[in-house]
Amino acid sequence: MGGWRMLRKICPSKRAFPSINPLYFTTSITNNQLNEPLLQMAVRGHNMKFDDYNKILNDCVDLSAFREGQRVHAHMIKTHYSPSVFLSTRLIVFYKKCDYLDDARRVLDEMPETNVVSWTAMITGYSQKGLTSEALNLFVEMLRSCIGFGPNQFTFTTVLTSCIGDLGFHHGTQIHSLLVKSGFEYHIFVGSSLLDMYAKSGKIHDAHRVFDDMPERDVVSCTALISGYAQLGLDEEAIQVFRKFRTEGMSCNYVTYASLLTAISGLAAFDHGKQVHNQIIRTELPNAVVLHNSLIDMYSKCGSLSYARTIFNNLNENKNVISWNAMLVGYSKNGLVNEAEELFERMKEENTIRPNNVTYLAMLSSSGHGGNDERGMEIFEEMLVNRIEPEIEHYGCVVDLLGRSGQISRAVEFIKHMPIEPTAAILGSLLGACRVHSEVGLGEVLAKKLEELEPENAGNYVILSNLYASAGRWEDMRNLRKRMNEKAVMKEPGRSWIEINRTVHTFHASDVSHPMKDEAFEKVREMLVRIKEAGYVPDLGCVGYDVDEEQKEKILLGHSEKLALGFGMIYSCSEVGGKAIRIMKNLRICVDCHSFVKYVSKVYGREIYLRDTKRFHHFVGGICSCKDYW
Ligand code: ZN
Ligand code: ZN
Repeated sequence: MGGWRMLRKICPSKRAFPSINPLYFTTSITNNQLNEPLLQMAVRGHNMKFDDYNKILNDCVDLSAFREGQRVHAHMIKTHYSPSVFLSTRLIVFYKKCDYLDDARRVLDEMPETNVVSWTAMITGYSQKGLTSEALNLFVEMLRSCIGFGPNQFTFTTVLTSCIGDLGFHHGTQIHSLLVKSGFEYHIFVGSSLLDMYAKSGKIHDAHRVFDDMPERDVVSCTALISGYAQLGLDEEAIQVFRKFRTEGMSCNYVTYASLLTAISGLAAFDHGKQVHNQIIRTELPNAVVLHNSLIDMYSKCGSLSYARTIFNNLNENKNVISWNAMLVGYSKNGLVNEAEELFERMKEENTIRPNNVTYLAMLSSSGHGGNDERGMEIFEEMLVNRIEPEIEHYGCVVDLLGRSGQISRAVEFIKHMPIEPTAAILGSLLGACRVHSEVGLGEVLAKKLEELEPENAGNYVILSNLYASAGRWEDMRNLRKRMNEKAVMKEPGRSWIEINRTVHTFHASDVSHPMKDEAFEKVREMLVRIKEAGYVPDLGCVGYDVDEEQKEKILLGHSEKLALGFGMIYSCSEVGGKAIRIMKNLRICVDCHSFVKYVSKVYGREIYLRDTKRFHHFVGGICSCKDYW
């Protein structure tokens, strides 16, 4: 069995084994919990039996004692001991545990006889290291070459976790049919992994079907389904599924709560989030830091920075870099520039955790939100000094920063000097800046480039169309619309959400679907009358159609965030200074809605949070946290 060949591979220096100095050996022992007498026997070349090898290999696995385990393996070879399938599999597990996957694979390849456990151990090794194609290839080899046994529930469970990406999904569906044939389909672990595979590939309906077919369910399969919905941004569905499971008596683990909090953050469903927070406090769960980080993220996405900060402070020395980043991103998104700067300084003073690329991204976008381009450039340079390589997002932030502050030509220069090709997102942000600063010429050039890069993205056409509209170039605008129609570019329809009594209501632009749409619209009209008295003037430039003024005003009133606001004003307690209203929008809020909400917050004395795709707006007394800069 090629034993000596293997020894040479493992101990490349030929003299390494025969002339082992026992002293050297004992000093290299990483942990004195290793079974020393046995180890000494191995060193001195004593004959060892199965039990001895087994015992010491188990210790080596437990302690990840690579050098010691390697000697034991060498001892087997030197004494011509042929290990049983069981012991060889222990060797695979040992090398895998110590991250020497090639050595593990060599053991498998040289085994005269194998069983399902040896193959599964190797496949698990690949899959845990994210070597998905190696895992899948080995699985296929196993199917081809093994006679008398096939994959078991553990093999299937592990290989399914390697089915990611397009190719993985293709393999995954084939494995599914194999499962049906071999009867493992209904095994609880296998079922959960299969469900997870479909969910991760975005096939949530298939995932749900697998779930429905499972004869037995547990917290793992339920959580996989919830997290599948949450990861696809189907937040309402995730919460619904969670509620259903709870009424059916499902228990929760920390992964369940983390997935649920992701969904709640997505909807900015504050009341729901608080309720889940209470549940988490009552249930003592492991991995508290993970959950606390999710809570920080959830509260800041709901605009409740003080809640987020309390949780952050209570973490004390358990804080990790994710906790710091969650808090910094929270401040940044909410436009609390000073708070972000202070915390960033504290992070550097405490010096226990080093800022990473996410930290710098948060700080860059914080300067962007604050409109402080010089500070932004400083942070970018600090990042370079600290040898943190900027990624495309960091470059994007800088371009955004310069563009917003009107330094369009500096932004163009910066893009030219970037070591990576600018993405469509970066050009798009510059196009946005052209609109704000009425740079029609450059805007047209960028839009043309973007049309090549991403012909499907309606957002670019909309910005260019707005650019034409604000410059009064109606003819160009009409031509653009015609081009859009020819290419059948669909503009993503505007949608807004609001949570009332833990139910999430969705409104569409010029809504015809929500049962309370008329009431909501009436409320918007009523608010319009009152805020006009206070000085509000509709910004008709926000309408991308060449229609008369009255029509334009009507179109503006139908914007989904206004409808959601009207609905919120009716159904959340409405005394002056009453409960805060929280609205989410799927697109960027327009200038007119922004000003509308500002006036409402002042005239009605209501605190309003509005979160769009770009950032969070917090309106109090007629002023927005973004200082009209977004
Ligand atoms: Zn609007
Ligand atoms: Zn704002």
